[in-house]
Amino acid sequence: MSPRTLDRLNADLITCRRCPRLVAWREQVAVERRAAFRDETYWGRPVAGFGDPDARLVVVGLAPAAHGANRTGRMFTGDRSGEWLYRALHRAGFASQAESTGPDDGLRLADCYVTAVVRCAPPANRPSAAEVASCSDWLVEELGLLSRAAVLVALGGLAFDTLLRLAPRWGWVPPRPRPAFGHGVEADLAGGPRLIACYHPSQQNTFTGRLTEPMLDAVLTRAGEVLAGPGDR
Ligand code: SF4
Repeated sequence: MSPRTLDRLNADLITCRRCPRLVAWREQVAVERRAAFRDETYWGRPVAGFGDPDARLVVVGLAPAAHGANRTGRMFTGDRSGEWLYRALHRAGFASQAESTGPDDGLRLADCYVTAVVRCAPPANRPSAAEVASCSDWLVEELGLLSRAAVLVALGGLAFDTLLRLAPRWGWVPPRPRPAFGHGVEADLAGGPRLIACYHPSQQNTFTGRLTEPMLDAVLTRAGEVLAGPGDR
């Protein structure tokens, strides 16, 4: 049987109901809605990755936000985290515009793809270990199809640790000992891409100054430097 295409994978993904707690939450949020969005129809389903299928830079976040991507249906779109991320990607030359408001806003990514470890909005932004494990199959297949990926930017510790743990499923060998998460930490996945850690642009980090725009820019500049080096993976 021939492998699924990225489009086919995403079409199948958005029908997934494997995690009962997350299915219930994403759908409850979509019915109840936040007052500011009460006139909108929420997506309320798993959120597919977004961007250039030939991307060499892949940004991996945690999960859709309840009133962000779970509302708009596009990864990192419709909340403050996404505003930070796409503004930074625009400054770095990977996004056609700084604004990201919804799937019809005209945003295009070039040489960049944005996805997440878990595809359904979790309560309190905290998926369980079992939910991460369940959703990993989607990520494994998706990253396997992004065959030009040469740099992975992990937003947050959970994405970083999950990518290191899953690396052997793509045939990549993580360094020993495994590096601890920290902003700007890099890991070479032998036989695969360079992994770069970045603090997640959550409001918890951006409001407190733990992550600043120059810090986010520095990670994407570093990603660009790696991409400009010799050869793809
Ligand atoms: S989190 Fe992933 S595995 Fe769980 S229901 Fe959503 S798409 Fe399916």
